[in-house]
Amino acid sequence: MSLIVVGTMAFDAIETPFGKSGQIVGGSATYVAWSASNFVRPVNQISVIGYDFPQEELNALAARGVQLEGVQIKQDEKSFFWAGKYHMDMNTRDTLDTQLNVLANFNPVVPDSYQGSEFLMLGNLMPSLQLSVIKQLKQRPKLIVMDTMNFWMDIAMPDLEEVLKEVDVLMLNDSEARQLSGQFSLVRAAKEIRKMGPKYVVIKKGEHGALLFHEENVFFAPALPLEDVFDPTGAGDTFAGGFIGHLAATKDISFENMKTAIIKGSALASFCVEKFGTTRMKEITISDIDQRVQQFVDLVNFDITLTNNI
Ligand code: AMP
Repeated sequence: MSLIVVGTMAFDAIETPFGKSGQIVGGSATYVAWSASNFVRPVNQISVIGYDFPQEELNALAARGVQLEGVQIKQDEKSFFWAGKYHMDMNTRDTLDTQLNVLANFNPVVPDSYQGSEFLMLGNLMPSLQLSVIKQLKQRPKLIVMDTMNFWMDIAMPDLEEVLKEVDVLMLNDSEARQLSGQFSLVRAAKEIRKMGPKYVVIKKGEHGALLFHEENVFFAPALPLEDVFDPTGAGDTFAGGFIGHLAATKDISFENMKTAIIKGSALASFCVEKFGTTRMKEITISDIDQRVQQFVDLVNFDITLTNNI
């Protein structure tokens, strides 16, 4: 049960209607690693950081069973930086700033020790780099899951189309699914996206849950109604980490098990949004996660008697 995670390890500056984070550690691969390592270890991390990335954060990840051999450190450059501002609904946000820094000339290298990993999580990153990692693997993983965002649809669509042909599961949010497919209906959007390559499409709808599409099957998972959503940043990556972490731990990639994986991902994402950055991810235990998964079960569980024809 081995997992490779690719993505950014970054600094973020987040503004929500309730406050500003200042500069904090984030990045797609950071969130995926914190989340997936609840279920599977080691997490074989591939990313790039600059001289400014805190050593304590690397130590904390290493202590979680995150293998850092594939994380390049560029001593004379700054880490990737992203700033975003959430609207009042906390579901939509504007990107205020994206500074590629170390990412501008990043060539991911898959260490020999990572070869043979059975699961690959392509966290949000330039599509050409996601593809480069797939191409370096001597043996195709059992499952390749990919996350992306509108930013790459706007500036790197041809590369995105290439990598889509190679992946099994694509995760994206509802507005991105509409942008990618040109379809308003999410059912039609998923159908169009499946024609581009992925057999499975997961469409995230923020506080309204997530949909999993495969052939004629659809599964819906709610999001837990939370009293306070403090910072949604990283919720998508945390969801992805829980999803692939569960699949890697169980080694079962059936549609039925993907349903469980979606609930685990949703449970982890519900913790992530409770505090700024990765703070909450560092606090929670397996028993907290189990209790939250039970809350999801209770949320949608009901008895019903069908009305018979009279
Ligand atoms: P999420 O809220 O799940 O979409 O993920 C937010 C994280 O993605 C932040 O921690 C950012 O550092 C990172 N991020 C933002 N923009 C990009 C981008 N264009 N490519 C890769 N990672 C990004």
